[in-house]
Amino acid sequence: MKLVTFTKTGEPRIGCLNQSGSEIVDFTAAGIPGDMNEFIGLGDCGLQQAVEIVEENRGAIPIAVVALLAPIPRPRRNIMCVGKNYVAHAAEFEKSGFDASNSTGADVPKHPIIFTKAPTSVIRSGEAIPGYLDSSDSTDYEGELGVVIGRGGRGISAKAAMEHVYGYTVVNDVTARYLQRDHTQWVLGKSIDGFCPMGPCIVTADEIADIREMRIQTTVNNEIRQDAEFSQLIFDIPTLIETISRGITLETGDIIATGTPEGVGIGFDPPKFLRTGDVVKVTIDGIGSIQNIVE
Ligand code: MG
Repeated sequence: MKLVTFTKTGEPRIGCLNQSGSEIVDFTAAGIPGDMNEFIGLGDCGLQQAVEIVEENRGAIPIAVVALLAPIPRPRRNIMCVGKNYVAHAAEFEKSGFDASNSTGADVPKHPIIFTKAPTSVIRSGEAIPGYLDSSDSTDYEGELGVVIGRGGRGISAKAAMEHVYGYTVVNDVTARYLQRDHTQWVLGKSIDGFCPMGPCIVTADEIADIREMRIQTTVNNEIRQDAEFSQLIFDIPTLIETISRGITLETGDIIATGTPEGVGIGFDPPKFLRTGDVVKVTIDGIGSIQNIVE
């Protein structure tokens, strides 16, 4: 099921996209809460109810008359993010000279690098990325797979981890590179308002046979910059969940951005930073695309 948060008039609602993506089945009419976090909290029970609504095809709305929001427009907590999780990207980042956090000299980390982005950084596909808020004028894109946690927990083993995955979404971990470099810790460069486009939907885990076989592609003004398969992740999803939850309780609706592949702007010499008017599109086949203009 492709779950979306949308507005028609008034309050946000949730529903699901039909196969062709032309219509949304509105769950609100069936008494389901309009908040995605609450819906995810209903677990299988909520999904079962949703399946029944879809089968009855009650309240289908043409997508043209609604506005899609990010599937979780305001996460309850910071988004968990992973640094340097593809070998080729780790190498390009090290070579760029922008990785002030690396004191080991090694390209590939021995342990997952985890940082977070503020909930206020989330915007929807179609909304402008406010590049003007980057005082260092070095805005860069990072197309990533986002993992949405269903059932939370602490001390989740890698073996049990996939049982805690509710679904997947597309994330652009937009980054102010000079802030990332100059402040050493990454939060300032990563958490700027509007620097986390997310969407267009959450595809529930049952619809994905093997996430490792799926691909991500990022384009800037239609030029392909990133193209990778998730089998290339250095630390796979079970390892990330095990690592984060070892001491931190993961909660329903938490999002883990799993890292970006090779091809970011600073991988080029000279760097290809985003400029006003540039259009960044991140696509994961089977989930969808998010597209944002820089202003
Ligand atoms: Mg990233």
